Amino acid sequence: MNEPRFKRVLLKVSGEGLCSPGKSGIDGRQLKSLADELKLVVDLGVQVCVVVGGGNIVRGSAIAKEGPIEETTGHYMGMLATVINALAVQDTLESLGVQTRVQSALPVQNVCENFIRRRAMRHMEKGRVVIFAGGTGNPFVTTDTGAALRAAEVRAEVLLKATKVDGVYSSDPATDPTATRIESLTYNEVIDKRLAVMDLAAVDLCQRSKIPIVVLDLRRTGNMRDVVLGKGVGTLIHG
Ligand code: UDP
Repeated sequence: MNEPRFKRVLLKVSGEGLCSPGKSGIDGRQLKSLADELKLVVDLGVQVCVVVGGGNIVRGSAIAKEGPIEETTGHYMGMLATVINALAVQDTLESLGVQTRVQSALPVQNVCENFIRRRAMRHMEKGRVVIFAGGTGNPFVTTDTGAALRAAEVRAEVLLKATKVDGVYSSDPATDPTATRIESLTYNEVIDKRLAVMDLAAVDLCQRSKIPIVVLDLRRTGNMRDVVLGKGVGTLIHG
């Protein structure tokens, strides 16, 4: 039997991973499929934490463009949206019998814990999935940066970045039929070519913390588990 390659993993899932394609809000089927994929990894005995985005509900910069909401307020609204998503992911995982805790960078103590690094690590040691909400707690950045930050803080061994495609491509596979998937890239290649994989700040932070990133498609059933076992499909970004 294959042994997992990692003891502790962090999954970054965007808000769009929680809604039907092209829509906004939250879709129960998408939640269930995310939870099913996470459970496959939990069942390997791997410690799991998740950073959820909020773009399916609010993005600070987008809401500010429409006015009259100030951009800073928009970012706080976006961070609160991630709390809504985290609660949805929590209940869905628990419906499958997976124990969880939500920790938020923005205190919302009636519904979840505040982010406390050591407590988060202890939860994971006890087999609980920790869902990080509230991004970094600061406006003007994204949950990708939050994911890299949390991965470094809780010493995750890999950051799994869920996207709509199964890795990084030579060009946009949606419009270019000759596009090919790239097996692996260095952090510097992503930064120098400004590849739109993740925020560059997040890539930079992963580089400094020596945390590899795997870009993968969560909709391929069992793929995240296979990546954790060292045989899935995705693009590895490393040193
Ligand atoms: N956000 C923020 N600080 C953070 C993380 C997120 O201000 O540390 C806000 C920002 O406005 C962002 C929104 O929350 O647009 C939703 O997060 P994000 O766009 O990263 O969500 P995703 O694209 O992953 O769904």
